[in-house]
Amino acid sequence: MDAAPLYEVFSSIQGEATRVGERHLFVRLAGCDLECAYCDTPASRKTPLCCRAHFPAGVEEIPNPLAPATLDAVVRRLDEEAGPHHALSITGGEPLLFVDYLRPLARGWRERLPVLLETGGHRPAELERMLDAVDIVMADIKIASSAGEANATPLDTVRAFLALAARKECAVKVVVSQRTTAGEVAEIAALAHETAPDAPFILQPVEGARFGPPTGDHLLALQSACLRIHPAVRVIPQTHKAIHVR
Ligand code: SF4
Repeated sequence: MDAAPLYEVFSSIQGEATRVGERHLFVRLAGCDLECAYCDTPASRKTPLCCRAHFPAGVEEIPNPLAPATLDAVVRRLDEEAGPHHALSITGGEPLLFVDYLRPLARGWRERLPVLLETGGHRPAELERMLDAVDIVMADIKIASSAGEANATPLDTVRAFLALAARKECAVKVVVSQRTTAGEVAEIAALAHETAPDAPFILQPVEGARFGPPTGDHLLALQSACLRIHPAVRVIPQTHKAIHVR
């Protein structure tokens, strides 16, 4: 792939899942094949005219699409100017739409930093091709009560995806809303425990979305239902929003 659409590149604090609190260099691709009701980066589903590269001295706008060498130069410069970083997070949009572009780049970045892939759990064939270029897989499994019925990932696809992700450091995240039932998350927890038993299972309360967040009592009930099946169930909200970083 000669070039790909980028939304932004920046250095910040990882606000989600098991690597929460670490300093990461984020590479956000533009473009997604889903329309989750809770999407917190809806603008990244479309290609902007320019990728915004957030350097410490200011934002630089780079016309889209970016050739691999251009993105690689941005990443290396940002790591030098804003690092050190614990890891590099590839996010989106949906990064697995761009495997041919990302794979050689990520293999190079791994020589400097662990590479974390933030992705939905709906593209196992693409994950398999990307797996040798990443160290950590954060799978955001889409369920109907938070992502919307049309975006929920079939259980067979989730199973195939997690079986591959389990070959790496991995975490399974499910965004939950006031509509989410114990049975719905317990079904995913059972599947995750079966296919990726070492991966922590994370319930993330939805924020600012079409379907509102669960109450505290509701969250406790969802966690209890999952803990009866899976020993490593954590509730972790999006912490970067609480500390007002990107
Ligand atoms: S997969 Fe991610 S970027 Fe795409 S719509 Fe869902 S939350 Fe938004």
